[in-house]
Amino acid sequence: MTSTDTIAHAEVEPIAELRGWLAENWDPDLSVAEWWERLGPAGWANPILPPDCYGRGLSRGDTVRIAQEIAAFGALGAPVGIGLGLAAPTIATHGTREQVDRYLRDIVTGQRGWCQLFSEPGAGSDLAGLTTRAVRDGDEWVVSGQKVWTSGGQWADLGMLLARTNPDAPKHQGISWFVIDMHQPGVEVRPLREMTGSAMFNEVFLSDAVVPDEARIGDVNNGWAVANTTLLYERSGMGAGRERPVARFARAGTVAGDLARRAGDFVRATRPADRTAPDATPARSPAQQYIDLAREVGKIDDPALRQRIVQSHILVTLSRLNAERHKAVRAAGGDIPGIANFSKLLMADILRLNRDLGLQILGPRGMLHSYDGAGNDELAGELGGAAALSVTAQALSAQALPIYGGTDQIQRNIVGERTLGLPKEPGDLSKLPFSQLPKNR
Ligand SMILES: Cc1cc2nc3c(=O)[nH]c(=O)nc-3n(C[C@H](O)[C@H](O)[C@H](O)COP(=O)(O)OP(=O)(O)OC[C@H]3O[C@@H](n4cnc5c(N)ncnc54)[C@H](O)[C@@H]3O)c2cc1C
Repeated sequence: MTSTDTIAHAEVEPIAELRGWLAENWDPDLSVAEWWERLGPAGWANPILPPDCYGRGLSRGDTVRIAQEIAAFGALGAPVGIGLGLAAPTIATHGTREQVDRYLRDIVTGQRGWCQLFSEPGAGSDLAGLTTRAVRDGDEWVVSGQKVWTSGGQWADLGMLLARTNPDAPKHQGISWFVIDMHQPGVEVRPLREMTGSAMFNEVFLSDAVVPDEARIGDVNNGWAVANTTLLYERSGMGAGRERPVARFARAGTVAGDLARRAGDFVRATRPADRTAPDATPARSPAQQYIDLAREVGKIDDPALRQRIVQSHILVTLSRLNAERHKAVRAAGGDIPGIANFSKLLMADILRLNRDLGLQILGPRGMLHSYDGAGNDELAGELGGAAALSVTAQALSAQALPIYGGTDQIQRNIVGERTLGLPKEPGDLSKLPFSQLPKNR
């Protein structure tokens, strides 16, 4: 038997168990869909999920290590998309058993792609101020409004939708969380181009789109609590980071077109002979990559640069130790209030530092970025080569994480108010009915 819907709970260290499982199950000639049919139900796609929800109840740190181990083994990783990281834990926490069965299997096996329909033109940091309306009509809800910054909306089959279901309640108390089918006439997705050159996120226009009531997760008007679970997983996922790069990835869902392709085509062709050995050589750390690049461009003796490389290494190590500390505290039955928020803040600092470090190493060469393949080929022949290309690309995208999932300022407000017990911002309007809140005209 190569795959099973029943997850065995052997008392063995998860990485050791995973290595054995991969040796038995990985086959590069499977299609992506067939491979994920093995990986997901075995609990390895997102092991942070509870065991009765296609996971293994492991910590965030172990989950990151498992993704790295799958990459190091030379197998294709879990379905890429926010269904696995955000929708799955939210539904596992707040959904009914029937909803867990309906949605989670398709998520861990990558059958459906997801997007997050939270932010609106007037509701980002003030997410509870959202104006998209859902009006009940028998067993259905009719939804109208506009969302923005919807990552992966163009590849999504389903969306995590926040909509206002009671405008007369205070703003946090009149919102519900739904699963919306993106393939319907009332949903229009328009891509937005970023400064990186790609168009990852979108505007989404909802015009009398329909959501069945059975696709509502959590109680009517209790969507703020459900959304907070989604945001908690989003922030802690960002804070977890990675010290080693993962392999190439395949995208979840029917639109992206990866399901029917050969799984082995997504992973590096040169798989080391025995990646199952515990002492297999790890991939280069981020600091090592900067050291190599600095050497290549002749700047390795620059003391200011060396200092920054060490700083980067220290922050990445601190991030890992934070995750370890959190794991130990949780294993002892406790928690660290605010950990998701300050882990995300730390990751934002790491990205900014690495952006500046990379650009400092490259000098003027770091200002050259190509938006097409031909330009990239040409630049790859210049000093620093492909490593320089990836440093520039990372520098251009480093602005994203400090914004999405709540900006740095919002993370600090949350830590201040909810963790440190500091007074709330003046002019708190959270008790007024949403319909009576002052609006910009
Ligand atoms: C790459 C990327 C991907 C994204 N993907 C998604 C997605 O898939 N789905 C989704 O729903 N959203 C997504 N977002 C949107 C993201 O969640 C919002 O951009 C973010 O919450 C900030 O909202 P805003 O852009 O409206 O900025 P605003 O809320 O207008 O904030 C503007 C500035 O004011 C500051 N500010 C606002 N309020 C306060 C306050 N009370 N105290 C102190 N400072 C404050 C902010 O920190 C910020 O610097 C994405 C964003 C990015 C950059």
